Amino acid sequence: LEIIILLELLVLVLLNKKCTENCFQLQKMSSIYTNSQTKFTIYEVLHFAIYTVLWHPESVQHIQQNKEVHLYVNGSDVNKVKDLLNNAKIHNEVQIDDVQELIAKQIYNISNHPRDIAGSRSHYENYHPLEEIFSWMSEITGKNPHLLQQILIGSSSEKRPLYVLKLSVKGVTPKAAIWIDCGIHAREWISPAFCQWFLGYAVEHYQSDPDLSAILNKLEFYVLPVMNVDGYEYTRTTDRMWRKNRSQHEGNFCKGTDLNRNFDAGWCGAGASSDPCAQTYCGPFPESEPEVRAVADFIRKNKESIKGYISIHSYSQMVLFPYSYKTERAKDHRELMVLAKKASDAIRVGYQNKFGFGPGAETIYLAPGGSDDWAYDLGIKYSFTLELQDRGRYGFLLPPYLIRAACLEAYLTVKIIALHIVEKTE
Ligand SMILES: [Zn+2]
Repeated sequence: LEIIILLELLVLVLLNKKCTENCFQLQKMSSIYTNSQTKFTIYEVLHFAIYTVLWHPESVQHIQQNKEVHLYVNGSDVNKVKDLLNNAKIHNEVQIDDVQELIAKQIYNISNHPRDIAGSRSHYENYHPLEEIFSWMSEITGKNPHLLQQILIGSSSEKRPLYVLKLSVKGVTPKAAIWIDCGIHAREWISPAFCQWFLGYAVEHYQSDPDLSAILNKLEFYVLPVMNVDGYEYTRTTDRMWRKNRSQHEGNFCKGTDLNRNFDAGWCGAGASSDPCAQTYCGPFPESEPEVRAVADFIRKNKESIKGYISIHSYSQMVLFPYSYKTERAKDHRELMVLAKKASDAIRVGYQNKFGFGPGAETIYLAPGGSDDWAYDLGIKYSFTLELQDRGRYGFLLPPYLIRAACLEAYLTVKIIALHIVEKTE
């Protein structure tokens, strides 16, 4: 047993650089052995340090054997954190040595690039503040009235608008629709970048990409580029590592609900938290969050036509499908598994990248209240969650030069799902 424990020590990577008060550093730990002591130590680290965020998994309870643990730590706390981990014999290393630099590379402001008009290639290969995403929406819709329509579906808890762009070729009577949402979790910036990239690509290539033409001759898309608008804005202005929305419920000490635990699917069961301060807080009741309510209402209203539901997240590179709230297999398990594997294979062959796949609960862990499970139980058979690049090298701080590659992989998956829906709705 001791030998096993020795082999199964955590490996923590710490690449340290001199850091003043306001800079952050990332500690990436590869955890192999986990027991209650490991979880306790990580818990202790998270509460001891001034600013430490668990990147992966999203809560201490989800730390698993043979799975890595990624921590984001303030530079001034690195030594104390290392001491705590070393004392518990948890091996550790710094993975990223200057997180501030990575964050700076992600912060892009159109005013610094006056010649960069919305719709240009450099627009899609950069991350944008919400304001720029909103002006991009009006611009791309205004320029492509034969393809796009902007629909207001509700507003956030801080009263920001929630816009869906409907992609539908004028003159075509669609047989079905696919819903795609991005930005449920605030810090996963590659996700809203994908929704923008996808629409930009569609507008540009709907006649030249034969698969896309075939898809748009039969289907229409509803695309929500940023679902967690308040949280996204907060990651730009205040806390890059924020995950939840920004709602304040009466009597709660902390702000924010995890929107992907707030859907009415096994709500707040094992894998979610009823602690308002937790990253996976499920909210006071299902659909308590205006963002979730708006999406659920819109999809319910259009459920006759919506045959596909795709939610875009990061990171870890996975094609997931129901269920996540229970370990029981979905009625359509086989068909969904074949599709997910097809996407994973296509990414491996086309882009030499590895994507895991399978039902959420079996592939990662129990996660109740998720949007894909809810959509599936509503009757949307082709329901998926995609976890885009990467596998932890940069995590949420994926540099802009990797946006294109991440989007191409996601697009390939969307295409495979959409073509399958076209075939099944003939
Ligand atoms: Zn996510």
